[in-house]
Amino acid sequence: MITWQRGLADVHRGIIRLGRTTTYELEASADLLFALLAVHTPHQAIKFIARWGLLHGEGAEAWSGWEADIAYLWEACRLLRQDPAAFCAAINERLPEHQYRPENGHLVASITAGSLLGAAYLALLNLSLSGARLGTCDDCGNHFIVEDPRQRYCNRLCGGNARMQRWLDRHRGTPPLDSGRKS
Ligand SMILES: [Zn+2]
Repeated sequence: MITWQRGLADVHRGIIRLGRTTTYELEASADLLFALLAVHTPHQAIKFIARWGLLHGEGAEAWSGWEADIAYLWEACRLLRQDPAAFCAAINERLPEHQYRPENGHLVASITAGSLLGAAYLALLNLSLSGARLGTCDDCGNHFIVEDPRQRYCNRLCGGNARMQRWLDRHRGTPPLDSGRKS
């Protein structure tokens, strides 16, 4: 765990600034990882920062840098599913200071990088070490941990939305739209 700052942020001319803050204990959790992967707009970044804080913690960060960091994180998730060797290379590049240690009979990785982005990569690394499979939701496009190989939605709400959409499509007599919003 590292002590991190979160709070009210605003975006002006492409620069995200963190205003009034509170500190909290940041953990490398899957919640953090999935929340960051779901940030696609500056508005979503502001909501993310209220809960988690800035990626690097410097008080002001460029939205373009966020876009690049999040795109790279998406790529790492794709590599975890499709190319383990390239996934390891991506993790090692982004987490140069991680370390493994035994805990309750398992190997766990710990943060030494000291940033929120590092914690997100660490969460991804821990997911891969635990053998978790990542999927992207066919409805909202968010990432989730696949518990059943047939699972296509991140939660019941998205599954219900997709069912409703299929029902509406059938009753309009039109072919179903491709609802996948994956990249
Ligand atoms: Zn979803």
